[in-house]
Amino acid sequence: MQINTFEELKNILKKENKEIYEIAQEIECQNLCLPKEDFRKLIKKTLDAMKEAIKNGLNNLQITNGKMGGQDCIKLVKNYQKAPSVFSKLFEKILTYALATSEENARMGKIVACPTAGACGIVPSVLISLFEELEIDDEKQINALIIAGLIGKIISFKVKPSGAIAGCQAECGTASAMAAGAAAYLLGGNINAILNSIALCIKNILGLTCDPVRGFVEVPCIKRNPFMAIHAMTAVELALAGIESVIPTDDVIDAMEQTGALMSPSLKESSLAGLAKTKTAIIMSKSCFTKRYYSEHSNK
Ligand code: SF4
Repeated sequence: MQINTFEELKNILKKENKEIYEIAQEIECQNLCLPKEDFRKLIKKTLDAMKEAIKNGLNNLQITNGKMGGQDCIKLVKNYQKAPSVFSKLFEKILTYALATSEENARMGKIVACPTAGACGIVPSVLISLFEELEIDDEKQINALIIAGLIGKIISFKVKPSGAIAGCQAECGTASAMAAGAAAYLLGGNINAILNSIALCIKNILGLTCDPVRGFVEVPCIKRNPFMAIHAMTAVELALAGIESVIPTDDVIDAMEQTGALMSPSLKESSLAGLAKTKTAIIMSKSCFTKRYYSEHSNK
């Protein structure tokens, strides 16, 4: 069985009277020829890898491979020690975990691509922060990641999650939608709230370009992860309050596909426009971009 659209998912849930994670689990067990227990073990292992990446990233001061990042997470952690976030502990965790994971990715550390390496901080930061702050048990943690996976899969039937194909809307946008849907589930949202979180999330990221400076997944990618994680939580809070997307979820995905197709190839991972062709980016590309350059500029 395959679920191609969110409308189909909604109808199946109604007909079978099951939870989303149960449907997704049945499909994946069938596809992977795995018994349920083994599939859930695999998901647990994936969650453990996400937690490990956060732990490693939080304690790492090493500059990233492209030398344009790597020390921002530690700055944020230190600042929160002096002055806690005006929002909440949850907010602090989401921002720091997202930065920790995406910096770790840019150091070529081990991360879970969800759906891609560039967007790897969004789903883990939202889910793991909620797990910790709401003291969510292991089984529900596994259910949440299964739901995030199904959301990513349905979106990717229409729009491939790749900056080169549809811009960053398709990478960070999909990750944000995956995080939003799973977070809505964790916070007790029903299928309508989950679908609205996804739609609101993607609607407000349509057209986001992919213009990585010097071709590295660092600028704007690393800092974009915490932004998109909070973007996901904004969608969840609105949807849980009963606020609906006027445009249904599947239509929003169609709009993302069309927007991606209309986007200039120079803004789709080719580094030929946007941030990648700013004055500073050009100087950086021409000069030997050293650790010293990074330190000088990061202290401004
Ligand atoms: S800007 Fe491009 S490379 Fe960076 S995260 Fe977005 S899609 Fe990936």
